[in-house]
Amino acid sequence: MNEQPEMNDFFTEMVLKLGAAGIEQPRLEARLLLAHVKKCEVAKIFSTINLTDEEKQNATELLKRRLAHEPLDKIVGHREFFKADFIVNRDVLSPRPDTETLIESVLKYYTDLGASLQILDLGTGSGCIIESLLLEYQTAHGVAVDVSAAALAVARKNAKKLGILPRLDFVQADWFATDFAENISKCGAQKFDVIVTNPPYIPSGDIDDLAPEVRDFDPRSALDGGADGFDSYQRIAEIAPELLVSGGRIFIEAGVGQAERIAAIFASKGLKLVEMRADLAGIARCVVMRKK
Ligand code: GLN
Repeated sequence: MNEQPEMNDFFTEMVLKLGAAGIEQPRLEARLLLAHVKKCEVAKIFSTINLTDEEKQNATELLKRRLAHEPLDKIVGHREFFKADFIVNRDVLSPRPDTETLIESVLKYYTDLGASLQILDLGTGSGCIIESLLLEYQTAHGVAVDVSAAALAVARKNAKKLGILPRLDFVQADWFATDFAENISKCGAQKFDVIVTNPPYIPSGDIDDLAPEVRDFDPRSALDGGADGFDSYQRIAEIAPELLVSGGRIFIEAGVGQAERIAAIFASKGLKLVEMRADLAGIARCVVMRKK
């Protein structure tokens, strides 16, 4: 006997519509959306009571947004990354599992979790990279830089939620500005043990071909890497040597097929290649370079 005919009919309709829109995991996404509306765990979504009219209306609104290819995390307003849950919205790039490769790589080279590392994040967005690191390294201190004030507001909210606000400074700055390195050196730590960065790296001409979830909902400034995708890598390679302590390392996220050239760019500025670390799909995702 079906105990919740109404809920199941509504659910089935959501799944069919999501599937027809080309959403890859329609059942999972329908459950996630309904769990958000019901403010309950996803695992409980089948045992929950029927939807009220208001909940149905809410679910219908959220479904409409997902059918227009707004990503689920931006609809529900948060996303898991590494070990924590991060607030996200349209002002920040959605955290990707690929980017967890950077965290794993830092953990490999800095095994003392009690080390008082000074960490700099260039292009922090939601803050997911540096804040995950500050959660691991309990006495580390960080500087999170972004050109977007709106992104920094999200990163700050996340830091507060995660209880690491006292150990993280936020700086709104553009790394293409000539006095960038000088300005960063003035705030707190003058030099950093670790720099992490997931800069924009999509060639401008490729952006139109990205999935609508990315193209239309991630900030363009977080995606667009200039004509060949390497503008920010070039610039960061110029400033990183100045900002690192001797022996310090930079962990750079690479787009598909970009790792070799990134390593060459940073090597031309005097940094030494340590490792190219692959993500779970086997793509060289994190380039690690060391200052002599
Ligand atoms: N990883 C993102 C994508 O492939 C791009 C993020 C970036 O440019 N840093 O859609």
